[in-house]
Amino acid sequence: MTVDTNPFVETTERAELRAAVAGLAAKYGQEYFRECARTGRKTDELWAEAGKLGFIGVNLPEEYGGGGAGMYELAIVMEEIAASGTGLLMLVVSPAICGNVIARFGTDEQKQRWLPGLADGSITMAFGITEPDAGSNSHQITTTARRDGSDWLLSGQKVYISGVDQAQAVLIVARTEDAKTGNLKPALFIVPTDSENFSYTMIDMELQNPEKQFQLFLDDVRLPADALVGSEDAALSQLFAGLNPERIMAAASAVGMGRFALDKAVSYVKERTVWKTPIGAHQAIAHPLAQGKVELEMAKLMMQKAATLYDEGDDWGAAEPANMAKYAAAEACVKVVDQAVHSLGGNGLTTEYGLAPMLSLARIARIAPVSREMILNFVAQTSLGLPKSY
Ligand SMILES: Cc1cc2nc3c(=O)[nH]c(=O)nc-3n(C[C@H](O)[C@H](O)[C@H](O)COP(=O)(O)OP(=O)(O)OC[C@H]3O[C@@H](n4cnc5c(N)ncnc54)[C@H](O)[C@@H]3O)c2cc1C
Repeated sequence: MTVDTNPFVETTERAELRAAVAGLAAKYGQEYFRECARTGRKTDELWAEAGKLGFIGVNLPEEYGGGGAGMYELAIVMEEIAASGTGLLMLVVSPAICGNVIARFGTDEQKQRWLPGLADGSITMAFGITEPDAGSNSHQITTTARRDGSDWLLSGQKVYISGVDQAQAVLIVARTEDAKTGNLKPALFIVPTDSENFSYTMIDMELQNPEKQFQLFLDDVRLPADALVGSEDAALSQLFAGLNPERIMAAASAVGMGRFALDKAVSYVKERTVWKTPIGAHQAIAHPLAQGKVELEMAKLMMQKAATLYDEGDDWGAAEPANMAKYAAAEACVKVVDQAVHSLGGNGLTTEYGLAPMLSLARIARIAPVSREMILNFVAQTSLGLPKSY
């Protein structure tokens, strides 16, 4: 078996992509990211350069300006960017969820209109499913689309939607009325952020992050017929096609952030000496860091399994590993960041060492895009066949 056919060894092409992304991210680094967050700027330079180099659209079809690769490669991009302390949340949303959904289910016109920009980074698309009164229960969303002639009128509210201020459009999960039953069923709409009757307000979050969260208000937003992505009748499976990539990318982001914190802690404890040897020689310091390394590597392996299955077109097969990878990566990341802060003693909480803000950033992975408990519910019900409590 050669290196390029062994699934446990990264192909030369993927290893080169990883190195190239790591090189770009290192050029910017955590200080750039934090400076943007502090001054209210966006990470536009990094986003634009990553787009120009083909990293953002690596998963999108070549005929629409993408790299023609898959989620495996986009997860490499996410992981390496996060591993340099510059985790771009919008990578989870724009090319992974929106890009995949449009590439797989959009009309040719929709693909021509949106994909080249999503691929080169000149267009960013946010994704809105969460609602104030539905939360984790996305079956309960009430944002509704009504037909008005050939147009649609969209009304409702969304909450915690990331990056709306830097996006040209939002892919909104809404509901239409089933002509036969009168029941509401999900449907996906592309809503330009400059649409009339569409407004948003920023939510104050205790996160040191240039990418912000927003509450959205849609009050009879008029959309042309072609704002609907894919079929009105198959939206659930279309949505699914976007949610597996979302979980894979959330896992990649958490693995990358965990690696970043672990690297910082390891280089610190190799040098810091308060007794006879560096503190990294004490097992109380070394073992938890070693455990973190094991847990991050295990999560990454599961993430790669999910990405491989997704790229082979096996949406259902990818669902279990995508959920498990997201769970495992988030748990490992939260634990590693906490241990990294602890390993630095007082320095772990200083501004200079930059680890303390990651205590809250790491928690995002546990809550979004789907909470730890909802993943455990999925595994309990789907993998173990246990009954539902809700
Ligand atoms: C930084 C950030 C960025 C985000 N970006 C986006 C975005 O771009 N687009 C978007 O659509 N959404 C986004 N979200 C929203 C995110 O997906 C939700 O916050 C998440 O799905 C949880 O929903 P909720 O906050 O309403 O919590 P709730 O649903 O109110 O849950 C609260 C707690 O109860 C638990 N819980 C709920 N139901 C059950 C149950 N049946 N069994 C066990 N426990 C349960 C949950 O696990 C959680 O711990 C973002 C959130 C954050 C924090």
